[in-house]
Amino acid sequence: MNFNTKTIHGGQKHEETTGSVMPPIFQTSTYAQSSPGTHKGYEYSRAANPTRTALENNFAAIENGTHGFAFSSGLSAIDCVLKMLNPGDEVIAGDDLYGGTYRMFTRMFEKYGLKFQFVDMTHVENVSKALTNDTKLVWLETPTNPLMKVADIEEISKVVKAKGSNILVAVDNTFATPYLQQPLSLGADIVMHSATKYLGGHSDLVMGALMVKDEKLAEELHFIQFAGGAVAGPMDSFLALRGIKTLHVRMQRHCENGKAIAEFLVNHNKVKEVYYPGFDNHPSHKVAKKQMKDFGGMVSFRLKDESKEAAFRFLENTKVFTLAESLGGVESLVNHPVTMTHASIPEPERLKIGITDSLIRLSVGIEDIDDLLSDLEQALNQ
Ligand SMILES: *Cc1c(COP(=O)(O)O)cnc(C)c1O
Repeated sequence: MNFNTKTIHGGQKHEETTGSVMPPIFQTSTYAQSSPGTHKGYEYSRAANPTRTALENNFAAIENGTHGFAFSSGLSAIDCVLKMLNPGDEVIAGDDLYGGTYRMFTRMFEKYGLKFQFVDMTHVENVSKALTNDTKLVWLETPTNPLMKVADIEEISKVVKAKGSNILVAVDNTFATPYLQQPLSLGADIVMHSATKYLGGHSDLVMGALMVKDEKLAEELHFIQFAGGAVAGPMDSFLALRGIKTLHVRMQRHCENGKAIAEFLVNHNKVKEVYYPGFDNHPSHKVAKKQMKDFGGMVSFRLKDESKEAAFRFLENTKVFTLAESLGGVESLVNHPVTMTHASIPEPERLKIGITDSLIRLSVGIEDIDDLLSDLEQALNQ
């Protein structure tokens, strides 16, 4: 099956007892057994639930994996991966990770003896230099949030595997989605998603996903998911599955609108700089072009007036763009990274990577492009 068919049919079969085309919401915690230990494959919904199974099979299909796992949030999916490691193990991660990922690594897992190095992943050499005999995991996010830096998944996987075939490469694929790039096919071992964002696509749930293509890895992750317990519920699983059915159609429009908005902003006299990997002069454009089918719907920009007041004036005056955290829904959102999504990153770190008061991040939705452009124009002129 090709991708646009997998989003709808991948891993799916009609429900057996009734023929229901859509997977029922199996709102149950437990399952009847005919004799102790004799059951139909389901015992207790923390271990498995049929609605979640339908979603997990679809997760695997859309990322070219063999196994998928649905979690109660994106962060709990990351937590599950980190729990495969032991005290003393080292992790190499990107230096402008999602704020919550950075917070989890430094404030939760350092306490348990894991060691982290944060490097600029746009240069593969930074990863090869950081590898040691204790490295067990390389965690990358591409494109990054909010500066849209791009890491070369294929090249990074190559240098990591040359150092040690047991070192895992995991990719947070939330921003790109499998419509744009499929890390398992580029050499990564694990794909992670905040399904809260583009996979769900309608800003109506919080969920995480992991996808793998290795049986042993799948067993380990399933054990941690089951033993740790951070599973997605049946209702949310149903919603995510419904969302994914239109992923390819939504992404196509997100990309078209994103491109039009990036071009509008780059020519605007109130705007200093635009971060969009589709531009020829974006530092990661070549890698983005090689690795991604298109450039997505996330666009960040910096105002010429660098004061916080100017940024707030813009942010308080958009009408179609809603000022809110999160991204990836059908509706357009605008965000101020310094005060909202990236507030958990210490100021010196934030300034070092360029997250300043004048930086604004857009999650471009799939509304009519003319309405989006005129909304930005009026807000920039306030
Ligand atoms: C939102 C997000 C997460 C965290 O996911 P939650 O569903 O909010 O727990 C992780 N990585 C990226 C890139 C995100 O955007």
